[in-house]
Amino acid sequence: MRIADSVVDLIGNTPLVKINSVVKPGSGLVAAKVEYLNPGGSSKDRIAVKMIDAAEASGELKPGGTIVEPTSGNTGIGLALVAQQRGYKCVFVCPDKVGEEKRNVLRAYGAEVVVCPTAVPPEHPDSYYNVSDRLAAELPGGWKPNQYSNPAGPESHYESTGPEIWADTDGKITHFVAGVGTGGTISGTGRYLKEVSGGKVKVVGVDPEGSVYSGGTGRPYLVEGVGEDFWPSAYDASIPDEIIAVSDADAFEMTRRLAREEGLLVGGSCGMAMVAALQVAEREGPDAVVVVLLPDGGRGYLAKVFNDKWMASYGFLRAPLDGKPDDSTV
Ligand code: PMP
Repeated sequence: MRIADSVVDLIGNTPLVKINSVVKPGSGLVAAKVEYLNPGGSSKDRIAVKMIDAAEASGELKPGGTIVEPTSGNTGIGLALVAQQRGYKCVFVCPDKVGEEKRNVLRAYGAEVVVCPTAVPPEHPDSYYNVSDRLAAELPGGWKPNQYSNPAGPESHYESTGPEIWADTDGKITHFVAGVGTGGTISGTGRYLKEVSGGKVKVVGVDPEGSVYSGGTGRPYLVEGVGEDFWPSAYDASIPDEIIAVSDADAFEMTRRLAREEGLLVGGSCGMAMVAALQVAEREGPDAVVVVLLPDGGRGYLAKVFNDKWMASYGFLRAPLDGKPDDSTV
């Protein structure tokens, strides 16, 4: 019988699918790695299990311990599902701008959610950085994974995402494209693909216009999960051969097209990565094999990217969901 021992064993081995409709004629092959097919719905399941494995091995996380992390999204879900399977408690600290729906997802997995004010600077005692540090120190058996600096993040992608892509493309991949948030995905996957190909695979990082990776100052952008206003140590700047910056408007328009034309209901950072992947595939021509990683699904963004009113309120709406080019739905 082919039955996984637990949901943790379903993490990884996500498929590649050819992208058809949104690719320009004459471009190379574009294949998407569909990370929302992980059990927690994102690529963050991979780093969650690896960070917990490493902390168990080093003794930092002891039986019955409590995982404390400032996260409101995908990393929290990944940590929560691994934690419940292994008998750990989870406390996630998130700013009050994070919507009730997102907090309820974490609670549904059995995690506790502590909400902090958004409108305080990072050094304030009530900021979510400081509250999570304090809780990790004060709670018995407290441990903070810290995805921005934990080397197990990039390692998980070096050990799983990279080898999966190499095997599934029979070593024919020429370009790897991924969004950069903590930098774990691009650094780990990119390092593996460069090593195994003897430097032949080119690695392209993608970030929102304004973020530091493409030379910005941290100027605000709306696409979630990618871009930073500081340089995390999970990011290895020697791995990407180039960084492409994408505007919110272009990222969200492509996200909507992926749902409508490719049947892929994915998050805004996926549309962002796809915009860059299509540029690379067009520029490199028909011999290129471009693999783009799509980190999460679109269900968490129905009130934003997939809502015409929200899109119009930022001036992003180019094509309403009902296909009618008027503004009666706005
Ligand atoms: N997209 C989304 C939706 C994410 O949650 C993340 C992780 N922050 C990323 C992209 C970027 O991945 P990484 O942190 O590995 O750079």
